[in-house]
Amino acid sequence: MKKVKVKLHFPRKWLGRPLISELITKYGIVFNILHADISYDSEGTLIAEISGDDDSVNNALAYIDSVDVKYKLYNKSIIIREEECIDCGACTAVCPSEALTMDSNNKLRFDKEKCLVCELCIKACPLKIISTEF
Ligand code: SF4
Ligand code: SF4
Repeated sequence: MKKVKVKLHFPRKWLGRPLISELITKYGIVFNILHADISYDSEGTLIAEISGDDDSVNNALAYIDSVDVKYKLYNKSIIIREEECIDCGACTAVCPSEALTMDSNNKLRFDKEKCLVCELCIKACPLKIISTEF
């Protein structure tokens, strides 16, 4: 089983074409969209998690490569020095995917699966206790 997080950049000519359903049908992968920024008449960006057996994921990435859709793999992840966190919530205010939220006790919660590695929280934290690791 392989799971990768990718950022896809669709050129204008690809908008409206069913790349994702093609990938699912051809390779039997699970395609989980985490964030999308696509408008009808311009280029689009999609952040997604692709999972499946190793060959299926590799073949799906090779197919994306072959059809002129650029992609970037996310190899980084966010780490938070939780013992130093003061639960101020500043990072939750900028997080676009709700990976960072405050729970009912006003404690910070981090859901790694939802993280887009956009790094906005790094800049927002007043204590500078959020960073990336490779
Ligand atoms: S990098 Fe930070 S702000 Fe961006 S999605 Fe992940 S947790 Fe949220
Ligand atoms: S911004 Fe920093 S100190 Fe504030 S809740 Fe987020 S991680 Fe904790």
